[in-house]
Parts: sequence; C-alpha cells; structure tokens
Amino acid sequence: MADVLDVPEQRAAQAEFPRILGDIGGELRGPTLVCVGGLHGNEPSGVHGLQRVIRKLEADRTGLQGRILALTGNRKGLAADERYLAHDLNRAWTPERLARVHADEDAVTDEDAELLELETLIAEAIDQAPGYAALFDLHSTSGGGAPFVTMDDTLANRALAFKVPAPHVLGLEEELAGTMLGYWIERGVPAVGFESGQHQDPGSVDRAEAATWIVLETSGVVARGSRPEMDNARQLLRRTAEGLPEVVEVRYREPVVNGQPFRMRPGYVSFQRVRSGEVLADNGNHEITSPENGMILMPLYQKQGEDGFFIIRSVRPFWLRISALLRHMRVDRFVHWLPGVKRHPKLPGAFLVDRRRARWFALEVFHLLGFRRAAKTREHLVVTPREPRRRKRLTT
Ligand SMILES: [Zn+2]
Repeated sequence: MADVLDVPEQRAAQAEFPRILGDIGGELRGPTLVCVGGLHGNEPSGVHGLQRVIRKLEADRTGLQGRILALTGNRKGLAADERYLAHDLNRAWTPERLARVHADEDAVTDEDAELLELETLIAEAIDQAPGYAALFDLHSTSGGGAPFVTMDDTLANRALAFKVPAPHVLGLEEELAGTMLGYWIERGVPAVGFESGQHQDPGSVDRAEAATWIVLETSGVVARGSRPEMDNARQLLRRTAEGLPEVVEVRYREPVVNGQPFRMRPGYVSFQRVRSGEVLADNGNHEITSPENGMILMPLYQKQGEDGFFIIRSVRPFWLRISALLRHMRVDRFVHWLPGVKRHPKLPGAFLVDRRRARWFALEVFHLLGFRRAAKTREHLVVTPREPRRRKRLTT
C-alpha cells in the first residue's frame, strides 16, 4: 500500500502552504523584516526554515522588538514541486507587469496571481513599518555546494547581510532582470537573498533557519544577544563557509534559452574552482567551456531555469572598504568629469560611458563608486546608481 501515498495529489496536499506563514510583533514599534520562502516552487527549504523560526517565536517572544512577516512565494509551484507553472515568478517583478496585473486581475497567469498577492502584502508591511524595513528572500539550488548570500552591493545591503557568515555574491542583479529583490531595492528597501544549499538536502532547512535568525538580529527585529538560537546559527554557517571567500563577484553568466538541450557535466558544486577552457556543459553537440579561471556558482542540474552556471571570483576586502569610503564622500557626483562619460540624456542619475574613450577604466570603477551596469552596446555602457533613493509610500 505504500504506493498509495505516492500519488501526486497526496504529495500536493502535504505541500500546501498558507500565504502567510507567520506575522508576529506588528504592535511593536521596532524594525520590520519581511521574509519570503519558496519563490521558486521546487525550493521548499526556505518555507520550512521560516516555519521553524515562526514556531519558536510564537512559543517564546524573548528579545522581539519589531515585526517579522513570513510569506510563502510560489504556492502553486510548491504544491506541484515545480520551479514555476507558467513562468518564473522571480523574473516577473517589473513595474510594467505589476501595472498590468493590478489593472486586470482576471487575465493573469498562475504566477501573476502570486505576484499580485505578494506585492500587495509586502508593500503594506513596508508602509506600515514605523521605521526601518527590509526584505529577506530564501532560495536553494539544484546543484550542491556551500550556502551563500546574494545581494546588490548597496551600503544598506552590506549592513544587513555582511553579518551572515557565508560568502556574499555581488553582481547577480546585473545578469538577471525582474527579480523580487531588484524590485524592492529600486524602491529604497534593503533586500538580500540567501541560497541555503541543495533543494532536497535536509541541511538546507537548517541553514535557511540559521540565516533567518542572523538577519532578524542584524535588522534589529530581535535584540542583539537575546536569543538562544543565535550561537548555533552562527556556528552552523561558519562551518560551511570555512575556506571560502567572504565576498565574490559575478564575472560571467551562461544563458540557457528555453528548449535548448543544455546539460551540465556531472559533479560540479558551487565555489568549485574551474580553469579557463574547461568543459563544463554540453549544448547538443556543442561543448560549453569556462571563459576564465575562477569558481563556478549554481551549476544547473534541473530542467527549468535560464542560467546554466555563473563564473565568480573573490573580491578583496580592501576594495570594499575603498568603495564604502568613496560612496560616503559621494564621489559619484564627479564622474561626468571623466573623459568619455556624460550624463544620460533621458535617465535621471544615469551616465552614458563611451566604451572606446573610457576603456582605460573599466566597469569595476563604476562598481566601486556604487553604480551598476544597466545596459551595454558596442559603443556605450549605461550605468545607474545603485544606492537607493529614499523609501516612498508604496500603497495607495
Ligand atoms: Zn530560487
């Protein structure tokens, strides 16, 4: 009779999560942290990790001085154990799409319906926050390897995320459009993500829980040193981060176009060293090699997904300190004095870089100064400021 338990409907019933996993401390006047797990439906460990945190806080509110709102991401995707049903929910956060789903709630896809609910709940929570509010997004990966933090390199994100003892991956947002984190950062909300390990590894739940506790403390939702969970959380993540760089940046993304026969070569895990020219994957009869020496991140071992793998390299702490200093000094105000750099005629705050005239300094300089690459053509680079504007009211 064991087979009976294995029919998809039974599995689906077990995996149905409420949209709101928990909402605690809303009456307190401290900071707000909105956490999302399972934005990809085949990544339930974030949801389980959040459920554990909520259970413990409900049983014992020691140290709680603000609000945690824990949300389920792609509920239908989770029930079906699929990354998504119609399209990737973590590539759908564009102002245009949100305007459309707000305007016509009937004509939406499964993921658009999830998008609408999530955006509404997050916007409300942020508007209700009496002061600081931030977002924390929990994921897992199809391949193995150490857990890591993903973040836009803003000073506010550094303050929120650098206490998590795991490698911090900068620059993913330059490769991916329409992510939930990117959307909220644009609206002045510090927002960081955490990849807790392989999808099915039970340890990924432990690590998702651990990272959530640390971010709760860093954001001030729970008072420093008040919770018994914190020591274990730090130790657990420190162990998995041993020997790995604290900060890395994305150098390359291997795109996978829908329907392509992309196949990763077996055995690669995140942070594994690869050499330039090493064959990493196959696309039909065509071998895909690493474009440079570095480390591999998130090799794709599942059918759905548009990123085959990333190549990363470590960033020296020296440069992070320099860039914090340059940003505090607001050196970005003077970049249009550089040859080949002028203000963008249409985009406020953005600069247009003539790639031939400005080739002696690279994108790295703009990264240091707090810019991100927004677009690139043969002649020009468009860079936009990363440091967010002040948070404005989000709901009407
Ligand atoms: Zn994910």
